[in-house]
Amino acid sequence: MKNIIWVLFATALLMTACAEETTDKGKAGEVTDKERTEEPAEDTSNANKNESEDGNKERKQPNQNGTAQEEVIEPEYKIDENSSVVPINKEGNEKVVLLTIDDVPDGHALNMAKTLKNLNAGAIFFVNGHFLETSEDKETLRQIHDMGFEIGNHTYNHVYLPDASTKEQEEEIVGLNDKIEDIIGKRPQFFRAPNGANTDFTKQLAKEEEMVTMNWTYGYDYFEPYMDAEKLTKAMVTGKGPEVDVPYSLLKPGANLLMHDREWTAKALEDIVAGLRDKGYEIVDPDSIQTID
Ligand SMILES: [Zn+2]
Repeated sequence: MKNIIWVLFATALLMTACAEETTDKGKAGEVTDKERTEEPAEDTSNANKNESEDGNKERKQPNQNGTAQEEVIEPEYKIDENSSVVPINKEGNEKVVLLTIDDVPDGHALNMAKTLKNLNAGAIFFVNGHFLETSEDKETLRQIHDMGFEIGNHTYNHVYLPDASTKEQEEEIVGLNDKIEDIIGKRPQFFRAPNGANTDFTKQLAKEEEMVTMNWTYGYDYFEPYMDAEKLTKAMVTGKGPEVDVPYSLLKPGANLLMHDREWTAKALEDIVAGLRDKGYEIVDPDSIQTID
């Protein structure tokens, strides 16, 4: 009984999700991510063992006094230098993908969270501060977080960090963490720079803020040919984007999938998850990923 209570508590504690920022900036900016998209992730993996649909298998037991604490949960995965998700232990299931939603909350994030929740699929919602100005936006973030999704930092204003002064970079990152903490009572544990463009300063700062920095391995929803639910679904599930010069598949164990708070992505999301699962991929639970604290 004690264990059951603990697991429930820990699950509630660790699941967090959220949403992100707005639009034009994000949209325009992220088109430059094309290069990244085309760059195959390093092949870290080999195997596939399909198991459960979510990654919470081997949670550690509570310690002797039974006091629930976040640190008690043993991470199963880590983010490697290519932003892929890899099992920490050899026996871990490598055939997983991580779902991430950027530029949240910009109109569709809450629905996307509901879709994912119904599918029992975890995700990280990378949010922007300029999408969190109104009480309605803040409520949206709270709801996504309360549904158990992970909330990540995607900078306050979605700026291109290499062009910003160190003071601005700090405001973009720490300022957003302060804001998120004000809203959901918790600071983000993951950071993704707009366009994947970090500086030495932001990498260090993210560490000091106890956030794991990640980019992604592929995503297609910000390319014009894939701003369509059906075409996007196919691209995400096959890993191929022939209309943007990716005729080969970027889907492989550990793939870190970039999506956005967009209408066509929201529409495609259920089919994307189903398609990936049909291929034997488990949607990794962000709570099972190693963090810095
Ligand atoms: Zn973005």
